[in-house]
Amino acid sequence: MDKEDLKKLAENPEFIKGIYNYCDRWCERCPFTSRCLNFAMGSEQFDDQEAHDLNNEAFWQSLSKTFQMTFELLHEAAEEHGIDLDSLEMEEFTEREKFKDEMAKNHECCRAAKRYSEMVNDWFDAAEEMFPQQEEAFNLGDGLDQPDDGEDAEEASFGEALEVVRWYQHQIYVKLIRAVRGDLDDEPEILDEYPKDSDGSAKVALIGIERSIAAWGEIRSYFPLQDDDLLEMLVHLEQLRRKVENAFPDARAFIRPGFDRIDLNS
Ligand code: SF4
Repeated sequence: MDKEDLKKLAENPEFIKGIYNYCDRWCERCPFTSRCLNFAMGSEQFDDQEAHDLNNEAFWQSLSKTFQMTFELLHEAAEEHGIDLDSLEMEEFTEREKFKDEMAKNHECCRAAKRYSEMVNDWFDAAEEMFPQQEEAFNLGDGLDQPDDGEDAEEASFGEALEVVRWYQHQIYVKLIRAVRGDLDDEPEILDEYPKDSDGSAKVALIGIERSIAAWGEIRSYFPLQDDDLLEMLVHLEQLRRKVENAFPDARAFIRPGFDRIDLNS
């Protein structure tokens, strides 16, 4: 796909503008794949099964074409906006950005989210010895297909709970970094009238936290001997959820394109 193809693809009115900005990137589970430009681009480029293999040459060639296309689009945009890409001010700008990155990493929400991702790793490491039996008992690897009823549904629900935990484990941190960084960039007098990207990112993090809490609740019933560890995990997540609610009080009200509906009666 070249840049003209991309522009043409982006003009499709069926796509919901910006839907991919506030999703959890779990395309496999997304009900809006047919309305997402990001998904369509991915399908166009990587439909070929062999391109899914990161070691496959086709993948890297495709990535290199994407780089070239991005490069061209960047130059076009810079020219359009009168941005000098060689300007020395860029150095100052980079320094400021680095400083903000550090501030974001040190924000209490981000530190707690980072800690959570480490706790998840610790838990999986500790449970590793138990997993051979658990995998056999609950057929973990196959549990992600559509469940039948009874035992199969139980297997699927355990496997899905683990999958949910793994999916959001790092994403919560990434979304919170973006939320905090966004807050540091905001110019309040301009942005007061507009929905804030930081609230959108915080909302995605909150959804990830809540889904993770639900998943750990499910996992807990399979590991009664690890109840203290799991309780600690749940408490940590709930504390994180509250911190995020406090730091981003308007996050819940953020309307994510496609995923949230505006209640016209309110
Ligand atoms: S909106 Fe859905 S299809 Fe598009 S990137 Fe996000 S999860 Fe994937």
